[in-house]
Amino acid sequence: MESETNDPTKYPEWVRHVGLGYQDGSKNVAWCGTTERPFFQDASHAALNGRDGGHLVACPECVKEIHKALCNGISFGDDGKAKF
Ligand SMILES: [Zn+2]
Repeated sequence: MESETNDPTKYPEWVRHVGLGYQDGSKNVAWCGTTERPFFQDASHAALNGRDGGHLVACPECVKEIHKALCNGISFGDDGKAKF
């Protein structure tokens, strides 16, 4: 299913997709499911770029999917503390 959130024309050109990385052999597949080839190799590549204040910005849909995956098995209470 192709949603408008995967429309690569939705974002400015400095917003780039994040790849699944090399570990599962899907280096040209983006987290958000777009058919666009991802610029960032993997989540770490995108995160380090953001940490270092890089000009390019990770696609929000990719970030949402990565965040969801990282939070698997964790929820956060109103106090901000992790619950398992
Ligand atoms: Zn994306």
